[in-house]
Amino acid sequence: MPITFTLDLEDHRVGTPAPVRCARPTHDVLRWLDQHGARGTFFVVATLAHEAPELIRAVADAGHEVALHALHHVPIAETGEARFLPELREGKAILEDLTGRPVVGYRAPIFSLTAQTPWAPAALTEAGFTYSSSVLPANNPLHGLAGAPRTPFRWADGPVELPCPVFGRGSATVPFLGGVYLRYLPMPIVEFVARRAGRTPAGWAYTHPYDFDTEEPFEVLPHAGYVTSRIVHHRRRGTLKRVDRVIAAGGGFGPPLAELAASLPVDRLPTYSIEPGAPAAPR
Ligand SMILES: [Zn+2]
Repeated sequence: MPITFTLDLEDHRVGTPAPVRCARPTHDVLRWLDQHGARGTFFVVATLAHEAPELIRAVADAGHEVALHALHHVPIAETGEARFLPELREGKAILEDLTGRPVVGYRAPIFSLTAQTPWAPAALTEAGFTYSSSVLPANNPLHGLAGAPRTPFRWADGPVELPCPVFGRGSATVPFLGGVYLRYLPMPIVEFVARRAGRTPAGWAYTHPYDFDTEEPFEVLPHAGYVTSRIVHHRRRGTLKRVDRVIAAGGGFGPPLAELAASLPVDRLPTYSIEPGAPAAPR
């Protein structure tokens, strides 16, 4: 199996008066995908539909999958159980109205489907999602679900899950195929991992518009310190080339995740559920 390209279409400077910057880098990505004749999955924060509706339509019109990256870009636990389902429905409806296509995929902001949110998978099914791409199956400084399988599985009370590809063991497990990991790690290591990911039933790379935005002036991001903001800001030149090499190492472009999820033998996938309140066990 090759590697699917995914992009989390969000504005990382929410909370500042700065104008939305995601359009230009996203158009660069759309041109690059078009050059390859490839289709990917774009997980869109639904409120972005108010600020950049034409950008989201351009993604859909180019034949890419538009999926939901929450109504607002906040972790699931922060949204809370009471608001999670209504916000899923609202976000899905916004994107479906805008694109005229069904939205069946969901990715939690910051892979925040964790042991803290055992009620989330059932809500995803109730809202009509057929797959989720919301779990980082490792211990992680931000969010992680270390006990979850590292290959596609089915939530006992929810949809198919395509977990974030990770590599390593214990506390040295990292999601190599995206974000700052993809931008900072030595390329031979990333390519080595990509070759392994390309052999799994669901390898995918994940990116954000800012990973490609070389013209953004530096500023300390809201909710992040100086060092984190510097890390997010550096090493963006050449990201597209890195993604190119990752996809090539994996064996080419995989299909959009909705098609990939639909092609999996659901009855033969392992099932998994979160024990409420249980700490995630290291793997
Ligand atoms: Zn995000």
